Amino acid sequence: MKPAIRDLLIERMKILIKNAMLNVRSNPELAERQAILAKRLCTKYRIRMPYELKMNYCKKCKKFIVPGFTARIRMGRSDIKSIRITCSFCNHTYRKIIKKQIPIGQ
Ligand SMILES: [Zn+2]
Repeated sequence: MKPAIRDLLIERMKILIKNAMLNVRSNPELAERQAILAKRLCTKYRIRMPYELKMNYCKKCKKFIVPGFTARIRMGRSDIKSIRITCSFCNHTYRKIIKKQIPIGQ
């Protein structure tokens, strides 16, 4: 596949997921559909979903999860710099190591 097409698809996925995040509170069904659509683009064109988009899906039940809404986020110990994401659908928790510090409440 041409890199330009791949970029275009990733751009489209980003828009879908961004919209899904905006819609999740007012219209969770629409959000879920948009999230599924984004994922389907990956399977259809056999491209790897960028990491920052993939982390919006639960690793276990594969549902679209939104931090602070359908997923709980807890900060790990500060020296490790990680966050723990708990999916509220299946209660699966996974840890995400973050390289740069994210400013929370400061
Ligand atoms: Zn889950």
